Amino acid sequence: MFLQNIQFFENSLKNSDIDNIINNMVNNNDIRLNDIVTLLETKDIQHLGIVGNYLREHLYGKTVTFINNLILNYTNVCITYCKFCAFYRPPNHYESYTVSKEEVLNRIIFAKSNFNIKQVLFQGGHNPKLNIEYYEEIFKTITDKCPDVAIHGLSASEIDMISKVNRSSTVEVLQRLKESGLTTLPGAGAEILDDEVKKAISPLKISSDTWLRIMEEAHKQDIKSSATMMYGTVETVEQRARHLLKILELQRKTNGFMAFIPWSFEPNKTEIQDKGVVNYPLGGFELLKMISVSRIIFNGLIDHLQSSWLTNGVGMAQLAIFHGSDDFGGTLIGEEVVSATGARSTELLASNIINSIKSMNFIPAERNNKYEIIKRY
Ligand code: SF4
Repeated sequence: MFLQNIQFFENSLKNSDIDNIINNMVNNNDIRLNDIVTLLETKDIQHLGIVGNYLREHLYGKTVTFINNLILNYTNVCITYCKFCAFYRPPNHYESYTVSKEEVLNRIIFAKSNFNIKQVLFQGGHNPKLNIEYYEEIFKTITDKCPDVAIHGLSASEIDMISKVNRSSTVEVLQRLKESGLTTLPGAGAEILDDEVKKAISPLKISSDTWLRIMEEAHKQDIKSSATMMYGTVETVEQRARHLLKILELQRKTNGFMAFIPWSFEPNKTEIQDKGVVNYPLGGFELLKMISVSRIIFNGLIDHLQSSWLTNGVGMAQLAIFHGSDDFGGTLIGEEVVSATGARSTELLASNIINSIKSMNFIPAERNNKYEIIKRY
């Protein structure tokens, strides 16, 4: 049995209430809703962490990856008004902006020559004034001028918005954007894949089924993606578990998710906090548990698990490695969404990540957009 291989920890593990569940998940790929709930409710994060860390080490040894990345939040104009978002501005608001095609290119060329970026994360609000040609022209220009910078761009909900502006199907939007240079899709816009939760925190956003459908459409066109989860708003533990199961089911069908990224909600300056619904972030305990549980249930199905340093800080990202994550995510130059909450500085250069990984006695490795290692430090 799997746990019996962890000789050193055998005695500490064999009497645990959660042993059978973990064994069943890891050995038999038998992932049940009630079992996920039990793991998400346990206080025994040391136990989960031992297993999560073992599974990570088995796959990646001492290597921890990251990518040199520019975040380009191309517009903050948005007509979806999510209650958890501090970033958006309504159309014509005095603080609203849309980055011009020329400025997009200037920023990428600057980041390429100064930071040798391998990816631009291109994400913004749902701006009804931007038609598909805006994105096509930008993606074609990036591909033409910086062919080695991959475009990790547009959440499923942005794809849906473009299809509405363009009056075409999301399949066609994905096709045209792929032909223009779109490489992969970020997993944003999922939050919690449960429509009761969405009704409470983002009533105007696409439904859970639409998010899953657009991801499936992308995967069928060989556009790989990440999957994310933003927890810590109004959802129950069972709704979190259902979210994980829905991601798992789609992955079994398409194998299109390259990585899973659990995010903890940052309430500062959001409507949810203003109305007293959520007053503080969930913090490190839940993050480490989420990382370990994700590694266990996605074992053998989704290869990579990112530590969420952006909302939890670099120190927590280091701890997350010891609980099952293998990827530090990207250097974040230019990020404006989380920084709008004022939570913390959201700039992190490669040297900061490399030093953080080395200080744990791990080997930092730079990767490309497809998670292929291009340089070890
Ligand atoms: S999360 Fe995205 S869709 Fe929702 S309000 Fe913010 S920018 Fe708009």
